[in-house]
Amino acid sequence: MTEIAVMLGGNLPGSAEAIKEALKKFAAAGVEDICTSEVKISEAVDCVPGTPDFLDMAFAGKWAGTEVELLELCQRLEREAGRPAIHSSRESRILDCDIIFFGNTVLDTPRLTIPHPRAQMRKFVLEVMVQVAPYMRFADGTTVKKALQMLEAK
Ligand code: ADP
Ligand code: MG
Repeated sequence: MTEIAVMLGGNLPGSAEAIKEALKKFAAAGVEDICTSEVKISEAVDCVPGTPDFLDMAFAGKWAGTEVELLELCQRLEREAGRPAIHSSRESRILDCDIIFFGNTVLDTPRLTIPHPRAQMRKFVLEVMVQVAPYMRFADGTTVKKALQMLEAK
């Protein structure tokens, strides 16, 4: 099985419940040994002014399937939570599921980039990720823990 780390977030009424529900569904779909971070509230980044605050959490676990199967599971859970299939990436959302790490896999395809391209520069990602996967590494070899220390030192 592959060690995976996923970010769950949302910033609409009902997002807290949608995150909890998604965690149950990841387990039901075969993700084992799930370890969860706290849920943190953070201000919207790269969004239009007035965008509601976000809830963010991370989980680590083990997955027997492929990267694309995990992406399809993430997207199914987003749809089931009520996120429209067609949406802009900057708009408010009930649930967002992003794959941050998939073992040591480095992948850059139109559909999937792993490790997640923006995670390393985003404090709101690293602050929860460090609670569940401090030693997982970005493509340049930097660990989550180190990436957070580097951002905090800026
Ligand atoms: P955002 O997460 O930036 O809000 P979306 O959730 O709308 O944006 O995702 C946009 C696209 O990002 C998806 O259609 C998916 O194919 C792609 N994508 C690329 N890499 C990843 C990843 N590591 N995890 C999740 N989606 C990814
Ligand atoms: Mg997403």
